[in-house]
Amino acid sequence: MRGKLSVIGLGPGFEDFIIPAARNSLEEADIIVGYHKYLKLIENLIPGKRKQGTGMHKETERARIAIEQAGQGNKVCLVSSGDAGIYGMAGLVLELLSREESVVIDLDIVPGITAALSCAALLGAPLMHDFAVISLSDLLTEGDQIRKRLALAAEGDFVTVLYNPKSSKRTVLLEEARDIFLEKREENTPVGIVRNAYRDTSSVVISTLMKLPALYDQIDMTTTLVMGNSRTFQWGKFMITPRGYNLA
Ligand code: SAH
Repeated sequence: MRGKLSVIGLGPGFEDFIIPAARNSLEEADIIVGYHKYLKLIENLIPGKRKQGTGMHKETERARIAIEQAGQGNKVCLVSSGDAGIYGMAGLVLELLSREESVVIDLDIVPGITAALSCAALLGAPLMHDFAVISLSDLLTEGDQIRKRLALAAEGDFVTVLYNPKSSKRTVLLEEARDIFLEKREENTPVGIVRNAYRDTSSVVISTLMKLPALYDQIDMTTTLVMGNSRTFQWGKFMITPRGYNLA
């Protein structure tokens, strides 16, 4: 029998935010493959299922295991956090499959709620106008490329969502990102900082470009930042980017 590989996004981490189509894929699957931490997060949704977890930075191994299992006729579900096609597993699976034409499987990519969207909802409505998404991780992207994209997003007045803002080994790119934005935007531009959105220890803070350094020690790899554009403002616990309606 021909195997099937479903690549799904689990959303931000709380089961209500996993879309029904992704849940169906989890239920249908013979084997669930993913990063240990994410398999743990959905443990109660997949009781008794065969699971194959791998560690951090083992994305290629995970994708190969999933493809191999599907190639053997199994129904496999490969999980990413958020959306699998945004800094997730979907692209890697397709890249590998495009090189191995002997593998014949059914493939299904199921969308998920990416961090930009879950974090924006917790902040109010910061993404009401054009926005850019930039990852500060320099593991697979040159630092200069990241700095260039930051500068151009700042120049273009895009609301800018920063994924992977800081790790224990990499802290300086976040400081550089702030400096780059301060060259183009006011000091009081709102910056939303959402940590662990829709998980137990979630926190939501609205600060400004100027005051951001005071919060550096609260920012880690489970945090997403939303830098406002030149018109974004704060209203109480909300961050709002006007769409441009004339409200006079
Ligand atoms: N595929 C994922 C992104 C993986 S990259 C997605 O679509 O959301 C990992 C980065 O995503 C983290 O460093 C963080 O910036 C962001 N992220 C993922 N889950 C998050 C959550 N629950 N709360 C805040 N940020 C999150």
